[in-house]
Formats: sequence, C-alpha cells, structure tokens
Amino acid sequence: MHDFAASVCLYCGARPGAEPAFVAAARDCGTMLARRHWRLVYGAGDQGLMGEAARAAIRAGAPTMGVIPTHLMPRERAGGARAGNGRETLVITETMHERKKVMFTNADAVVVLPGGAGTLDEFFEVLTWAQIGLHAKPILLLDVAGYWQPLLALINHVIDLGFADPSLRELFSAVPDLPALEAALRAHLPGG
Ligand code: AMP
Repeated sequence: MHDFAASVCLYCGARPGAEPAFVAAARDCGTMLARRHWRLVYGAGDQGLMGEAARAAIRAGAPTMGVIPTHLMPRERAGGARAGNGRETLVITETMHERKKVMFTNADAVVVLPGGAGTLDEFFEVLTWAQIGLHAKPILLLDVAGYWQPLLALINHVIDLGFADPSLRELFSAVPDLPALEAALRAHLPGG
C-alpha cells in the first residue's frame, strides 16, 4: 500500500528556458501533483525546470522518486544541501537507459514540459513504445506558451508524408495549460 494515489513521470528541461512562463509552469505542475496526492517521478536533477518542479512538489509535501545515473550526479544534482520533506526517494542507476526504465516503470502517466534534446528523447521513446503496443500509459505534452507547436507540426508532417499512421496522434495529447493538464490526469489516474 502506497502513501500516494498514483505516480506521474515528468520529463522537462535541465535548463529554465527563455520564457518566464516555463519556470512558472514547472512550479505549478509540482504543486498540483502534491495537491492531488500524486508522486513525482523525475530525473532527480536540481537544475532548470526539473529542479523548479521538484522543489515546488517537495515544498508542497509530495512524495518524489528521483532517478539519476552516477555520472550525472555532479552535473545535474550539484545543489548540495536541499530542503526535503521526508518523502523523497533517490534511485541511483549505472546508465541513462536504466534511468529511463526505472522512471517509466514507476509511473502511471507521463507529462512532458518544455525541454531540450533530452526531453525530446524521453518523449519519443515513450511514444514509440506506445506505437508498438508496449504500454498504454497516458502521455501528455504541456504546451506552455505554444512551446510544443513545432513538434506537433513535425508529427503532422511525418504522418502527412506517409512515415507514420495517423493513429500516432492518438497516443499522446497536447494540453494548453495547467488546468487542462490536471483534468487530463484526473481522467486517467486515481486519487485527487
Ligand atoms: P534536456 O531536455 O536536454 O535539458 O534534458 C532533460 C533531461 O534529460 C536531463 O536530465 C538529461 O540528463 C536527460 N537526458 C538527456 N539525454 C538523455 C538520454 N539519452 N536518455 C535519458 N535521459 C536523457
């Protein structure tokens, strides 16, 4: 029996990005997870949007599972002393692949906030796993300030030119803001 209702895996940038709206969305997302009694599963970094979301979630009392490979500890978890809430679990893996696997298997849903190449890699990995029927976990892109519009255009282009089935669009949803994200998660997850 867990002390949380469900787990949400958050993929997002290890940088804050150029728009203040990105940091605000990451913080709001962390707080929302705590309010709904959902556990945050994340890359354990304290940098960028990852750090913002995690600090907000921890501050608001959410349980967290951070998963990080040994070699990234100095780079992504360099913050030293950090305030905890006594509900944090840190998993240290050997490799990036192991990290992704631990994060995904411990999550009931995946949320993608703005991010860079690492975030895109994580999104496409879970999307392609869904495409070949390996899972049916919800994948939600939070389209903060329209950040993901070029990605959505690229996916449409890939479908239009015959390299993916139109059903690819049904394997994930883009939501425009935090209330829409919360509603989409509530439709899939217990608790809250
Ligand atoms: P980014 O979106 O590039 O800021 O990266 C976000 C997170 O994804 C960071 O924690 C990176 O360590 C992580 N990341 C980058 N590349 C990979 C990869 N190939 N597999 C797993 N995680 C990755």
